[in-house]
Amino acid sequence: MENNSPPPPLRPYIAKKPEDKWRHRGVTYCRVFGKWECENCKKKWDSGYTWVAIKKYEQNLDASHFKNKKDRMYQKCEPCEAKNPNKHEAKLIYYKPLDRNVKLVRGTGHRRKLCGKCNKGVICDLKKRRW
Ligand SMILES: [Zn+2]
Ligand SMILES: [Zn+2]
Repeated sequence: MENNSPPPPLRPYIAKKPEDKWRHRGVTYCRVFGKWECENCKKKWDSGYTWVAIKKYEQNLDASHFKNKKDRMYQKCEPCEAKNPNKHEAKLIYYKPLDRNVKLVRGTGHRRKLCGKCNKGVICDLKKRRW
């Protein structure tokens, strides 16, 4: 046992609510807190509705590993989206597990039209009916 190389430091995702996990086209995404940057205009913003592939999350990979379509749901920069709706996706520069203390992102809140998940008709900040 002692001779084996240590296992990678796995980080299980702990969903606080069932809707913190979302399955889409064979990939399960989990909700995290993310910081985004627009590569065009360098605008930055925070999002409490950032969705990353749970497999990579659990491997404890940092945000630089979440570049591809299937690694995270895209978000778009509002001014650049207005100019060029189809061309542009922002870059996830940092993320962390959702903090119980982080309520909702201040300011304008979640911008549905800029969010890849919302654009698929699965609205992030819709109040779920409790069954
Ligand atoms: Zn921009
Ligand atoms: Zn959304």
